This record gives sequence, structure tokens and C-alpha cells, in this order.
Amino acid sequence: MTSKPAIRGSRSAFMHGRTVFTKYGGGCLRNILISSKIPRVGDIDPIHIYRGHLYEDEYGKMLDAQGTDYEREVEVIDDRPDGVFSGHLDFLIGGKRVIELKSSQSKSRLRDIKKGEYIEDNLAQAVSYMVATEATSGALIYSYWEPQSDGTLKMLLEYTHEIAIDMFGRISDNGAVTKWSVHDLLAHQHHAFKVLKEEIIWDRPHNHAQLWGSPCHYCPFKSACDSYDAGTVTDLQGLLEAATRDTSSLANKTEGQPSNEEVTNE
Ligand code: SF4
Repeated sequence: MTSKPAIRGSRSAFMHGRTVFTKYGGGCLRNILISSKIPRVGDIDPIHIYRGHLYEDEYGKMLDAQGTDYEREVEVIDDRPDGVFSGHLDFLIGGKRVIELKSSQSKSRLRDIKKGEYIEDNLAQAVSYMVATEATSGALIYSYWEPQSDGTLKMLLEYTHEIAIDMFGRISDNGAVTKWSVHDLLAHQHHAFKVLKEEIIWDRPHNHAQLWGSPCHYCPFKSACDSYDAGTVTDLQGLLEAATRDTSSLANKTEGQPSNEEVTNE
């Protein structure tokens, strides 16, 4: 039996007339195919992961103190006819409210988020969990933790995006209807399943030529994609070999250095 194509939490993003790509290429359909074939390297920061766990522990303690009914680190498997979406959501409150906690490495990043700058893959991830668990309410809660002189971490800032899905599939953030919808999300995931199943090398993001506005600028596979688009490599095997070289050299360059990913995704 052939296994179904599968994507995980942070590999989902929206379509809204055209595909929307995140800063790190998370929603890029070409990136999804390459990432499924070669190991992910170079962006795992143990301190950042530690912050994430600490935040989850503190949040769990707060829920315990309130006597709230919750599950933590819930495995989500949304098995659909065309593929499987899976992931681990941070907290499921009362079986019907999804909470995703994100820790930011900088105060300024958190202030940008507070001002309304979206991190679409975080939103897509949370909404995917809401769809899979049939929750209509959720929250993305961002925080900033500063190291203290005694070696501990103290939370200085916290900001919540309250997320809701209405009966038309429209997504609201803090009470305001956004341009995103569940239909966009599912359409994008359907494309991702097709790309994985048929091994389609998808078109490059529409704005890849704009340096700072492009997910390609930050993507570890940029050089491989440049070679593919220039015709230097012509097939998937060549693209994957070039991408493997890109990520190996990136891993060597970043070994021992903190991640440049400012907000945790998973
Ligand atoms: S370089 Fe651009 S087109 Fe290539 S995988 Fe990354 S985001 Fe996608």
C-alpha cells in the first residue's frame, strides 16, 4: 500500500488568490518538497528550545492554579483523503480551545508582532490544529524571556492573538476578520499533498526577485533554486543534490551559533 503524503505543523500556509510565503520559505511548495527529501539542519537552538519548554511549564502551572481542564503536547493527526497533516499542539483547553505558545528572542520582534506584524506560518499552524481538533477558538501567545544575572530566565513581555473561525471559515484575530480563511489553508495543504505525491518542482514564489520581500532570501535552498531556475540543474535529483550541498555548508557555518529564527515554530 502506498503511504499518503504528509506535512507537519509549520509546513502549512495560506493561499489567498496566490500562495503566501513566510519569511523562512515555510509555505513554499518547492521548499516543502525539498525539505521532505533531505534532513533539516542549521536552525535548532537549544537555548531557544529551553525557553519554549520553560514557557510551557509556566503556562501549565497557571492552568493548574486556575483548576482548568487541559491536555498538554497533544498529538494531532488529521488524516484526509489526499494526505495527512500532523503535529503537536501545545495546550488543548477543555477539548475545544487550542493554545500555541511562541517565545521570541528579541523584545523588538515581540513589539512588531504586537503592532500587528503577522507570522503567517504560526497562524496557519494554529488554525490547522483548530481545524483538526474541531476547535473554533484558539490563541497564539508570544512572549519574551530575558536572562537574569542568577542564570534564570524571566518573562518580560507577553502578547496574545485571540483566533476564531466563523461559520464561513473566516479567521478573526482579536475580534477583527483577517484576509485569511480556512478554505485558503486547506487549498494550500491540498497543493502540498499533490506536490509531495507527484514530486512536482513548483514555481518559485511570485516575489522572489525582491530581495527583502522574498522568502528565498532567507531560505537555505536559495542557491539550489537559483541553479535550477538558471537551467544548471534540470531535475529533482540534481536539485536535491544542490540543496544538500547548500544545507551542509550552512550547517558548517552556523555550528555553535544561535539560530536566526526569532520565533519558535514547533
Ligand atoms: S529558495 Fe525560494 S523557491 Fe527555493 S525552496 Fe526556498 S523559498 Fe522556495
